Amino acid sequence: MADQQRILTGMRPTGQLHLGHYLGALENWIQMQHEYECFFLIADYQAMGDHLDDIGLIQRSVIEVATDWLAVGLDPEKSAFVIQSYVPEHAELTMYFSMLMPLNQHQKNPTLRAETAQLEAENQNITLGFFNYPISQAADILLPKAHLVPVGEDQVAHIEYTRNVARRFNRLYGEVFPVPRARVGRIPRLVGTDGQAKMSKSLNNAVYLADDPEAVKQRVRRMVSDITGENPRMRATDPGVVEYNPAFLYHDAFNDDQDEVAELKERYTAGTVSDGEVKEKLTDAINRFLEPIRERRAWYEEHPDYVRDVLNAGTERERVIARETIENVRQAMQVVYT
Ligand code: ATP
Ligand code: MG
Repeated sequence: MADQQRILTGMRPTGQLHLGHYLGALENWIQMQHEYECFFLIADYQAMGDHLDDIGLIQRSVIEVATDWLAVGLDPEKSAFVIQSYVPEHAELTMYFSMLMPLNQHQKNPTLRAETAQLEAENQNITLGFFNYPISQAADILLPKAHLVPVGEDQVAHIEYTRNVARRFNRLYGEVFPVPRARVGRIPRLVGTDGQAKMSKSLNNAVYLADDPEAVKQRVRRMVSDITGENPRMRATDPGVVEYNPAFLYHDAFNDDQDEVAELKERYTAGTVSDGEVKEKLTDAINRFLEPIRERRAWYEEHPDYVRDVLNAGTERERVIARETIENVRQAMQVVYT
């Protein structure tokens, strides 16, 4: 299909995937793999930006992320799973784009600012590689000339930046790159179990796709039931406010029995259901959702060679396109000397 549009999107191999990754990104990817030519990137360069001291985690996570992708239903026959650093053209294009983009625009990126502040608060060094990652991400997206980038809300600023890079390049050197669009998931940003704005590995507020039923139960049990922190509900007979309780966000997102959710909300508002029961039903709902994923995951865990083959084959597919793009870029920029 020559006119099929392309997608590039990805994840960092810095640990297991969680429900936020599913809602913000994977759910869309699973749908879109049927309509688009997809490249799903395991961004190990990007992981090194703040995890180089734990290369073992990155190593494990490359396989882990691919296993999670297969388990949720991404189809490697349709889509390419790519290891970023195995296609060094990602680094080459990053280099050219770094020459192109002004520093002051880079420094204004709100996601980069927030993440830099977070690392500083943890007394971690900000490496040049980390600081440069929005450029590197623009190169990731533009290397296969992607048209569309399905991501969570926190990534939208980076896609906007990528659009600037593409426009600037095209203006200076001729039409080489499509100007890609972001597509945000059904739930653009899933809150953490602790009520913080984003479920995240690093904040220890996640429910993981690989959690067993008991782990899910414990994580839901410890969930906060009031995002505001100002409206503690002492008794089951106190009228509750559904909007304050993140358990209901999760019910909306994951419970396949929406009649049950509607009834729970009514009883919560009226003060005729305990937080315990809301959470028990949520545990059951999440476990129903995760069960088929767990089953498939178990098979892939027993067949790591299959997972490695998928990664090698997908990486090879992107490499061919990457070489063509770099050739286009060198010609356009006149970086040809002999
Ligand atoms: P974490 O914060 O858990 O370390 P991450 O942000 O490093 O995860 P990435 O690999 O950067 O994970 O993100 C992969 C994709 O998942 C991105 O599209 C991102 O927007 C999406 N995503 C991650 N967490 C969430 C969330 N809580 N809600 C919605 N989307 C999310
Ligand atoms: Mg991130």
